[in-house]
This record gives sequence, C-alpha cells and structure tokens, in this order.
Amino acid sequence: QAKLRGKNTYHLFEPRLNAMVSDRLNLENRLRKALERQEFLIYYQPKVDLRDGRMKGMEALIRWQSPDEGLVPPDMFIPLAEETGLIVPIGQWVLDAACQQAKLWRDKYDPELRVAVNLSPRQFQEVDMMSLVSYALSNSGLTPDGLELEITESLVLPNLNEASSILKRLADWGLTITMDDFGTGYSSLSHLKNLPLDYLKIDKSFIMDIKSEGEDATLPGTIISMAHSMGIGVIAEGVETQAQLAILRRLNCDYIQGYFYSRPLPERQFEELLANPRRL
Ligand code: C2E
Ligand code: MG
Ligand code: MG
Ligand code: MG
Repeated sequence: QAKLRGKNTYHLFEPRLNAMVSDRLNLENRLRKALERQEFLIYYQPKVDLRDGRMKGMEALIRWQSPDEGLVPPDMFIPLAEETGLIVPIGQWVLDAACQQAKLWRDKYDPELRVAVNLSPRQFQEVDMMSLVSYALSNSGLTPDGLELEITESLVLPNLNEASSILKRLADWGLTITMDDFGTGYSSLSHLKNLPLDYLKIDKSFIMDIKSEGEDATLPGTIISMAHSMGIGVIAEGVETQAQLAILRRLNCDYIQGYFYSRPLPERQFEELLANPRRL
C-alpha cells in the first residue's frame, strides 16, 4: 500500500507536470481577478482605405495590464480564456468597451468611423450573438454601421449552416462581417460562399512573404481577385514596408493594416491620430 501511494505521490508531484498544472490554474485565477479589477484594456489599430489613403476604422485588440508582469499580449491569455470559457465575459467586456469608445470618437472626429471586434469560437457558440450585440449597441448608442465583427474559419466551420444564419441576421442589421486570418485554415473561398462576408482579411504570414516590389505575390493576388469576383472586399494585415504596400495597391487590395501605417495604439495615442489624421 505504501508502495502504491508512493507511486501516485511521485506522479502527482513530478516537478514539470506540477508546474504546468499550477501555472494553468494560477493563470485562470489571475484572469478572473483581472476581469474583476478591470485590468484589461484595448489597443486600437487603424484600417486604412487604399483608395484615398485615409483611416476609416480601427480594430480593437485586447491587452492585459498585469500588476506582476506588465502589459501581456493576447496570445498569452486568449487561448486559455477560450479553453476555460472566461472568453465569454472577457469578450463581452471588449465588445461593450469598444462600442462605447467608437461612439465617442464618431461624435468627436468622424461620424463614419467603424470599430472591428474579434470574436472567439466559444463566444459565438455559447452566447446569443443577437442579444450580445444589441445590448452593446443600445448601451453605447453606436449604430450598427459602426460595428464590424472579425470572425475566423474555426468559428464557422463546426456548424456552417447555423453560423451562416446568425451572421446573416447580423449583416441584415447593418453590421460589417470580416473573415480574419484568411488563408491559414483549411477552407477555400468557395467553401465560404454562403456566408454574408463583407471582407476577407489576408493573414499577415502571406503579406510578410512579400519581400520586394518585383515579386509576383501569387497568393495574395489570387485571394484578392477571387474575393472581388464574389463581391467581397479585401484587407491585408501585417503591412510593414513600402514594397508590400506598392504590391497590394497594384493588386487592388481595398484596405491595409500594419506597422507601416501604425502599430496598435493605446486609447490616448489613437485619439491623437484621429485629431491629426495622416494620409498614407
Ligand atoms: P488578429 O485579430 O489576427 O490581429 C492581428 C495581430 O497582428 C495583432 O496582434 C496585431 O497587433 C498584429 N499586427 C498588426 N500589424 C502588424 C504588423 O505590421 N506586423 C506584425 N508583425 N504584426 C502586426 P495582437 O494584438 O497581439 O493580437 C493577436 C491575436 O489575439 C489577434 O489576432 C486575435 O486573434 C486575438 N485577439 C486580440 N484581441 C482579441 C479580443 O478582444 N477577442 C478575441 N477573441 N481575440 C482577440
Ligand atoms: Mg483580427
Ligand atoms: Mg488577423
Ligand atoms: Mg492574423
């Protein structure tokens, strides 16, 4: 018996495993506290229209201002939040806060400004999107044309028909629907033809492959012409260089996002950009 207990004990307290388990639990608890203590904040990154070089909207990107670790990027905590279901309250907080901010900035700077909010698969599965969105809009006073939802293939693929009908109701309402990270999943564009998509966002990994201006950029080019033939606009993310911008212009890309124009900025700095608009 002692032997058996010894074995189990050994397993339970095997150092590496123990560190992993307690870290996850610890992180989950700290995320819960972070929500209570309002330690999350939103950075905003401009979306720039290539027709006139002007900023037309911004993507809301969450950050965690942790008292222990400083500013924590979303890749460090969104996956666990998704796994534990904490993404539901966190996602609601982002949506409400982003809508309120967009309403203020619309009134002050540009009545056509639009804010894009990232949705997670679990949020989409577990929450009634219509009531979530209608609350965020009525609470903020933002009209539906001021809100864009960024979805992913992994959000729609488990149940394409149901996702499609929910998204259609949101689109009919006047929201803009964008497929994020396009090209990284398994589905082709034709697979997604029943979704009411306004835009596709080409994943930054494909944009970063464009190194010089002479290059043919086959993949982005194919995505852009296919999307356009289906009446869908295209956004390129991760645009960092003049060369990438020049090629995307030549390929008739509609919008760009990336460090070349601006990194994601905290509220106050983003507002400075709104007050002093910069043309690309
Ligand atoms: P995403 O939605 O695909 O966002 C684009 C990411 O690329 C952002 O990273 C952005 O800061 C980064 N980025 C933008 N321009 C450039 C560039 O020129 N070069 C490079 N190297 N990177 C660029 P971030 O802010 O760390 O967000 C990472 C991911 O976390 C997002 O990817 C999104 O999937 C997720 N995320 C962020 N905020 C939220 C949220 O509120 N809810 C949910 N569910 N997910 C979120
Ligand atoms: Mg996004
Ligand atoms: Mg993206
Ligand atoms: Mg991406």
